[in-house]
Amino acid sequence: MVTKTKILKNYVNGQWVEPISQQKETVVNPATGEALAEVPLSNQDDVDQAAQVAREAFKTWSKTPVPKRARILFKYQQLILEHYEELAELITLENGKNLAEARGEVQRGLECVEFAAGAPTLMMGDTLPDIATGIESSMYRYPVGVVGGITPFNFPMMVPCWMFPLAIACGNTFILKPSERTPLLAERLVELFTEAGLPDGVLNIVHGAHDVVNGVLDHEDIKAISFVGSQPVAEYIYKNAAANGKRVQALAGAKNHSIVLEDSNLDTAVQGIIGSAFGSAGERCMACSVVAVQEDVADEFVEKLLAAANDIKMGNGMNDDVFLGPVIRQSHLDRVEKYIDLGVEEKAKLIRDGRLDVKDTDEGYFLGATIFDDVNEDMTIWQEEIFAPVLSIVRVKDLDAAIDLANKSEFANGAVLYTESGKSVRQFRETIEAGMLGVNVNIPAPMAFFPFSGWKNSFYGDLHANGKDGVEFFTRKKMITSRFA
Ligand code: NAD
Repeated sequence: MVTKTKILKNYVNGQWVEPISQQKETVVNPATGEALAEVPLSNQDDVDQAAQVAREAFKTWSKTPVPKRARILFKYQQLILEHYEELAELITLENGKNLAEARGEVQRGLECVEFAAGAPTLMMGDTLPDIATGIESSMYRYPVGVVGGITPFNFPMMVPCWMFPLAIACGNTFILKPSERTPLLAERLVELFTEAGLPDGVLNIVHGAHDVVNGVLDHEDIKAISFVGSQPVAEYIYKNAAANGKRVQALAGAKNHSIVLEDSNLDTAVQGIIGSAFGSAGERCMACSVVAVQEDVADEFVEKLLAAANDIKMGNGMNDDVFLGPVIRQSHLDRVEKYIDLGVEEKAKLIRDGRLDVKDTDEGYFLGATIFDDVNEDMTIWQEEIFAPVLSIVRVKDLDAAIDLANKSEFANGAVLYTESGKSVRQFRETIEAGMLGVNVNIPAPMAFFPFSGWKNSFYGDLHANGKDGVEFFTRKKMITSRFA
């Protein structure tokens, strides 16, 4: 547990090392504004130092038998279980989400480690003994090399765990650049992996911001980049990584739609949307930020939604019963408040102004559940990702109208339908343009053995994170065709 300002270092070759760069940034607890740590803003020389180490480590790690690699993953899984509560508290401390949500995040990270521990099966190739008379053909799977991972602030454990456990299980070595706003958890993740028996140099951390990212993009020894973050940065990473001949997957921003039909259970829909729109302070790439509700039930839905929103307890996520924690920084809160002003200017109906809510502390960066009604697609608050507890309601005639509307968004990460009709579910599944769908489920985030798959501007690349896509991304294939007759 962090109790006083910690000076963070980079983790290279199994050691905490002083960065070459002297620049630093303060990491604060968003619920209190209290300084937790100083994080280095490393530079390209720091990246180079880690890349050289990772390139050397790759020579032996890539040749380490796969079952031996998997055994380290099993041990790592055990250590994460033993440190579950400590990790959850660290997430709440640096990110602000409540402890129950933080525990859920630890669980999601753990599942990635469990999936990666299946490496001996996942790494298997294919053989066809008779592609022609006396000729056989086989596919072998190999790691790619040094992989770079760049992660966002909103899931300090789950998102890094989408990347390094599987990449490493597949025989790659890894350089992680955690978000400079939530860098603490990554340190415990690497310490526990080392304790599990991971050899030095296989997993390295280079803290920092865009200089590190550019260093990773430019470094010739880094063969693949996995990125998760906002849309403009994802596009930048995708283009530049590709221009430098690297394999890249870049998961980007979102504007997720939920649809509430008149035949749905409105209480289920309201509970789901409260959880999705306001949980984790709306700072989830799968958060519901627009709800399209069928006109006939719209008034009743809004009444129930407002009642539920009024019951939300806001405050420090460490405290019992707190549901809504802070947003990540004051600068983010300022930006979100500008969106609220813009919504009012654009004539959306502000039916709940979270700026007026009380919280259980005087410090921190808090915004209560904020709800706009009568929103339409010409408004900025409908179009752009706000990434905060701000929800837009659109009233629609029917499912056709709701799907047409959602499909106009440039983003397409998730979408949820609340209904009891199988026919509507089928229409939704076949016509909505989004990668991760939910039916009467508030956050349809796939588990680690399935791909995490946004569409349109929510994803840049081919192979998604996790599951078989992840294995494909972190491996390259070799074919051998042999004649023995
Ligand atoms: P961000 O884009 O600001 O930062 C992500 C990473 O990129 C960080 O490590 C940061 O240091 C780096 N970065 C930021 N600006 C950069 C720049 N100009 N040049 C190079 N690197 C830069 O994102 P964030 O605010 O940390 O995270 C929130 C965003 O992440 C939201 O848009 C959210 O939707 C998205 N996200 C998407 C998914 C998904 O699966 N699609 C999952 C989680 C978060």
